[in-house]
Amino acid sequence: MTGRLSGEVALVTGAAQGIGLATARRLAADGAAVALTDMAGADAAAQGIDGARGWTLDVTDRDAVHAVTAAVTDALGPPTILVANAGIQRIAPSESMDCALWDQSLAVNLTGVWDCIQAVATPMLKARHGSIVTIASMNSYRGMPGRAPYCATKTAMLGLTRALASEWASRGVRVNAVAPGYVRTPMVQKAIDEGLLDEPQLIDRIPARDLADPSDIAAAIAFLCSPDARMITGQCLPVDGGMLAYGAPRPTSDLPAGFAS
Ligand code: NAD
Repeated sequence: MTGRLSGEVALVTGAAQGIGLATARRLAADGAAVALTDMAGADAAAQGIDGARGWTLDVTDRDAVHAVTAAVTDALGPPTILVANAGIQRIAPSESMDCALWDQSLAVNLTGVWDCIQAVATPMLKARHGSIVTIASMNSYRGMPGRAPYCATKTAMLGLTRALASEWASRGVRVNAVAPGYVRTPMVQKAIDEGLLDEPQLIDRIPARDLADPSDIAAAIAFLCSPDARMITGQCLPVDGGMLAYGAPRPTSDLPAGFAS
């Protein structure tokens, strides 16, 4: 497959659905050989994506992270792109939250990302060629009630991304983050269905007046992995329809006539 990512080998975690699956599709369309991995298995998701293969991988299992990376290397070659996408959101009042939810959030959203990065880093650094993308969030910048572990781990993505970018830029490996706003994925749909998110109210706070599609996030990730982003490292790119930029104290729809979008 020719394209701006031809010759690249991309490993995507949490790729069975949502942003991970859209990213796998996009990277493959841009020419990369893609390894889809997910704790739920990714064989089915990989079918129908040109040059892609699926592996079962729970990113909280450190040995499995290294074993699957080795298997991907045998099958497709050493990963030159890592999209550390697998993530979970656990919502509960902080004072009474079951600490297992805290531990699980850190294991998936922080340590899981770290382990995947470590698993691919050495060959990338040896080859002086690699691009790593972590997934941040609006909650990397803003707090939200009931989401302490999510806010903490997603803010940590900014520090991790900056630290590794600083360390590896001179050795040919770039590290960036993407911060999705609200995206129509199973994770967000579940929160809407459970009444934890109010969709019309949400849209009222987004200047673009729409949720993002997973393909919008995938496009930003593919850009960061491409040669077009050669001089970009250590950055976080929000893909949020203007949500972070918006500063008025009321919904966009309540703005006086002529000011409403
Ligand atoms: P999703 O829940 O739709 O999909 C996540 C996938 O990750 C699932 O296939 C799941 O099986 C897998 N997964 C969960 N735990 C795993 C583990 N331990 N090991 C391997 N795979 C695991 O989620 P999504 O909405 O596509 O989110 C993807 C990423 O984007 C997450 O890091 C999330 O925090 C982030 N994000 C999403 C949104 C949004 O609006 N959807 C916004 C900001 C950030």
